[in-house]
Amino acid sequence: MIEAISTVDLTKTYGDLRAVDNLNLSIGRGEIFGFLGLNGAGKTTTIRMLLGMITPTSGYCYLNGERINKSNMDIWNDVGYIVETPYSYPELTVRENLEIVRRLRGIEDRDCVDWIIDKLKLGEYESRRVEHLSLGNAQRLGIAKAIIHRPKILLLDEPTNGLDPAGIVEVRRLLMDLAENEGVTVLISSHKLDEISKIATNIGIIHEGRLIKEIDGGGLQDQLRKSLVLDGRNKLAMRSILFQAGYDMSAKDGDLRKGSHPLRVHDEGAVNAPEKIATLLVKAGHPPTLLKVEEEDLEMYFLRMIEEYEGIRNE
Ligand code: ATP
Repeated sequence: MIEAISTVDLTKTYGDLRAVDNLNLSIGRGEIFGFLGLNGAGKTTTIRMLLGMITPTSGYCYLNGERINKSNMDIWNDVGYIVETPYSYPELTVRENLEIVRRLRGIEDRDCVDWIIDKLKLGEYESRRVEHLSLGNAQRLGIAKAIIHRPKILLLDEPTNGLDPAGIVEVRRLLMDLAENEGVTVLISSHKLDEISKIATNIGIIHEGRLIKEIDGGGLQDQLRKSLVLDGRNKLAMRSILFQAGYDMSAKDGDLRKGSHPLRVHDEGAVNAPEKIATLLVKAGHPPTLLKVEEEDLEMYFLRMIEEYEGIRNE
């Protein structure tokens, strides 16, 4: 089957910097692909290459199976996008801006402006000049412009920037509706895994231009690591007891001396039977003052993936 979006060994360098480094993406139709990375990871550069705004140093991008090439502008007729702050004419109203986009896109159906105003809940603001819109509503207008022509592919670079929590939920519902009911493929970039995880069917983590991890959105919860958190009067002694008993521990000596970090045991055996740990420590004369099982949250998981990748790279 032809993928909606794909890249093959896509690379962009700026001098010595590999902003995007041999990136291979493969995104099927109707997927919502969460493109996750820290600031400077290479998300915007990738999206710009998919839009033909910048030329790759090497490698290729494909949309609907067609290789991107500036002499074939038709490829983007079926694409809607937001890259950084969307530009609108500040002295014109919301409706006038959308009317301009309708004409530029060559859409004959005039009702599409009403449709999109309704879809993005912009009715209250349709006669307001864009320069007087709040950041969130300007962003909403940007999303309206991106989907007014009912594209089959959406490339969205941090589209919820500036939106309040209600706005974020609305955009999330809109994208899920477009993907599920109209088969639209969405690539959405973000640096927040918790936000992305609520809509993405698949997630790719990009770091220093490389795709370091791909996760099935539905299976994400199973990947979150559980650990047993312990505190006590003498954490160095507790750690040495547990270490001698063969448990996998974290926390450095310095952290323990400072006293601020609790001990963490990652072994499945410890997580499933914390009472064994308690008994061991009590018998050794170091009873714990705290003992609880904790599951890492999504942001911790995201940062751990990056740390593990950096660990492997530095080996
Ligand atoms: P953010 O979340 O901050 O938007 P990002 O993941 O979108 O980050 P990019 O904007 O793609 O990251 O940048 C990737 C790297 O490439 C960064 O180190 C950035 O400084 C660098 N970079 C991007 N554009 C240029 C350019 N025109 N010249 C030199 N370096 C650039």
